[in-house]
Amino acid sequence: MRITRHPILEFDRGRKILFYFNDKKVEGFEGESIASALHASGVRVLSYSLRYHRPRGFFCGIGKCSSCFMTVDGVPNVRTCITPIRENMRVRRQDGGVGELSDKRFAARKKMVVDDEIVVVGGGPAGMMAALAAAKQGASVTLIDENHRVGGQLIKQTHKFFGSLEEKAGKRGIEIAEELMKQINSVPGIHLILSTTVVGCYNNNTEDGGDRYRLVAVRRFMDGDQLLDVFCKRIVFACGAMENMLAFPGNDLPGVYGAGGVQTLMNVYGVRPGDRVLMVGAGNVGLIVSYQLLQAGVEVDRVVEVLPRITGYHVHAAKLRRCGVPIYTSHSIKEAYGSDRVEGAVVVEVDKNYAPVSGTEENVSCDTICLAVGLTPSVRLLEQMGVKTEFIPEAGGYVAVHDQSMQTSLNGVYVAGDASGIEEASTAMIEGQLAGVSAAASLGYDRGANELISRCRNALRIFRSGPFGEIPRRGKEKIAYLFDKMGKKIWGDSEL
Ligand SMILES: Cc1cc2nc3c(=O)[nH]c(=O)nc-3n(C[C@H](O)[C@H](O)[C@H](O)COP(=O)(O)OP(=O)(O)OC[C@H]3O[C@@H](n4cnc5c(N)ncnc54)[C@H](O)[C@@H]3O)c2cc1C
Repeated sequence: MRITRHPILEFDRGRKILFYFNDKKVEGFEGESIASALHASGVRVLSYSLRYHRPRGFFCGIGKCSSCFMTVDGVPNVRTCITPIRENMRVRRQDGGVGELSDKRFAARKKMVVDDEIVVVGGGPAGMMAALAAAKQGASVTLIDENHRVGGQLIKQTHKFFGSLEEKAGKRGIEIAEELMKQINSVPGIHLILSTTVVGCYNNNTEDGGDRYRLVAVRRFMDGDQLLDVFCKRIVFACGAMENMLAFPGNDLPGVYGAGGVQTLMNVYGVRPGDRVLMVGAGNVGLIVSYQLLQAGVEVDRVVEVLPRITGYHVHAAKLRRCGVPIYTSHSIKEAYGSDRVEGAVVVEVDKNYAPVSGTEENVSCDTICLAVGLTPSVRLLEQMGVKTEFIPEAGGYVAVHDQSMQTSLNGVYVAGDASGIEEASTAMIEGQLAGVSAAASLGYDRGANELISRCRNALRIFRSGPFGEIPRRGKEKIAYLFDKMGKKIWGDSEL
């Protein structure tokens, strides 16, 4: 399953690592996640559902679902898709339940206290740009990400970006990620904390009006975990999004993967998800990932799209068609079948009300079904904190209501990127910059802050002015309307 030749990527696989899966020796490579190494070794079933014990496999690849929960060195419910392998590590499938939380993981290390001016949660394009922008204004910033490297979704995007040169058009996502990582390491004032998940957020404002927030995070070390107690004056949430599921019989079979998960397997770890894929969704993600599958040497049987039109860029659709991949609009998946992994699927035409047209069912022979059916913003931490959220379909679901500086209903709490409404990496970078400069400016830092803020707002306007920007633009207009409607009730001058 390892990719050996690729037109764009070279897989520098590093040192071989041996670990144990259910007492059997398995081989992987340094820096690889447990789930990826198991996939490359042919292991598809990673867990079982709690009630019916149905087999579950890899799905999101970014630690946002529970399909890959396993017991690792005695610790249950470890997200194996974001946990790197280690020599002699013992990985077990949780055949009969959820396991129990253990205090022992925290025994080895003392709690660490972090106190900084600005904390950015999430080191994807939005978070990296927020941290850089705030630090360049002179603020002191802590950037926290739960992965062992920064980059978010950029680290798997091998295609070239569109847009203006200022927004890195013409560069591949992986190159942009490298560039931003170098800057993060060289710009003074940024403290990077990796392999650390923020799990709790509290509004610690004092009665005398001092604004101060508190986050609780868990940092993972080889020999145990450490609790982090984080205090700050400003927070930027840039936690990204999670992939949507689609309801159909067999949707939980191992082999039904999110498009982002497939990208992670192929482009980050150099592992083929399967041999023959049915792609569901002809938006940009579905089209791009289909082409990337071909580049990785995987057959794409077809792309099905429930809408009567392709919603992604036509240049991507044209590339696929030139490679002989048919795209069926007004079609969807009816079911996936197989005993403990995908062995095929049935697709069907739909009418104008999206109801299946009986008699149009067609069998598709495939071992992988890739779902590219949209993303949902990650707002759980924001909600925990008491930030006002609203359901905005054009933004992908519940999003934090925010103003034009990306500040939410809570003074000093900002949001950026997919967490503020699903869009794309280019706009995530601009929103991150806007949030970072605004947060720093609110603390009194000003190295041309106003000019930067208006440049960012202008760039966002331009990005959203084209036909492909129409849906996010409508989403952002609704968010702006809701923000204005909140008026002084939530945004009293004292709170500003
Ligand atoms: C499959 C797929 C294909 C895509 N293709 C394209 C494309 O072709 N072109 C394009 O422009 N855009 C594309 N996008 C969208 C683009 O990647 C996103 O819009 C962009 O990455 C959003 O950036 P972000 O920083 O908001 O989120 P992300 O890049 O998702 O970064 C979020 C970061 O937050 C971290 N995080 C989350 N929760 C926590 C927590 N509790 N504690 C600590 N860290 C946390 C995560 O580890 C992650 O690193 C694609 C997305 C997907 C999923």
